[in-house]
Amino acid sequence: METLTLNNKTKIPILGLGVYQANPGKETENAVLNALQTGYRHIDTAAVYNNEEAVGIAIKESKISREEIFVTTKLWNAGHSDPLKAFNESLRKLDLDYVDLYLIHWPVEQRLNSWKILEEIYKSGKAKSIGVSNFTIKHLKELLKVAKIIPVINQVEFSPYLYQKELLNFCNENKIQLEAYSPLTRGHKLNDKKLIDLAKKYNKTSAQILIKWELQHKIVAIPKSTKEFRIKENFDVFNFNIEKEDMNKLDNFNENFRTCWDPSNIP
Ligand code: NDP
Repeated sequence: METLTLNNKTKIPILGLGVYQANPGKETENAVLNALQTGYRHIDTAAVYNNEEAVGIAIKESKISREEIFVTTKLWNAGHSDPLKAFNESLRKLDLDYVDLYLIHWPVEQRLNSWKILEEIYKSGKAKSIGVSNFTIKHLKELLKVAKIIPVINQVEFSPYLYQKELLNFCNENKIQLEAYSPLTRGHKLNDKKLIDLAKKYNKTSAQILIKWELQHKIVAIPKSTKEFRIKENFDVFNFNIEKEDMNKLDNFNENFRTCWDPSNIP
């Protein structure tokens, strides 16, 4: 599995499984287990997804050693009143000794204070890396002014239909890895004719083209599926390359299309 090296020298598998809206219990457990058996080594969950326990159970069931799997979870907005407590609660639910990445899920008002606590968690070794999510350039600049440890990652919504080029450039310049959520536009654009036409050219599916576009931009992607055949389909992207001219075409699909809230309104 291809990995990218983060600014603290740790490595992250470039493709992971997202489990937002995967039901707690068997649905999440089976999805994570299927993914690990398929070859995924990176799982993206969050306290607010309410399925951290199931993620932890599947990791154990897989019998794959802990060090081989990259696990991300996130501090939900309500947890900012006591981030350490929220973090420990996530660790307990995951039943893990450490997570690979702990993210501030949304740039809520208390974000700078909470970042100091994340820095302490990082120093304790219980989160191998710390980062942010849904941060705009403005939020990142503000954080970079005061942070002792710079975030390794900014996880944001990102797809050819929401090609946030300025944010990508800013992150690259500041050694913050961009990670794409909702890379499949939650399914909304999979039937777009121009995307289907490109997919046919490569004998791939629309979903595989969207994922590969992220990977070729050196962006981490975490498509979600709970269906075994799609978990496999989304992983089957390492045996082809999108030609440069088609990457350019995809870059031009941008229409600022969002499936999630726009964080740019958060002061
Ligand atoms: P995605 O773009 O990954 O799309 C998921 C949807 O597409 C599901 O309905 C899934 O259905 C369907 N799907 C998956 N694969 C295929 C395929 N090959 N063909 C057709 N349909 C497919 O959306 P998400 O919003 O879930 O984003 C991915 C992950 O990113 C989340 O799970 C979460 O981990 C993270 N995320 C983070 C956020 C943040 O604020 N930090 C916000 C949103 C997401 P099915 O399961 O039935 O296959």
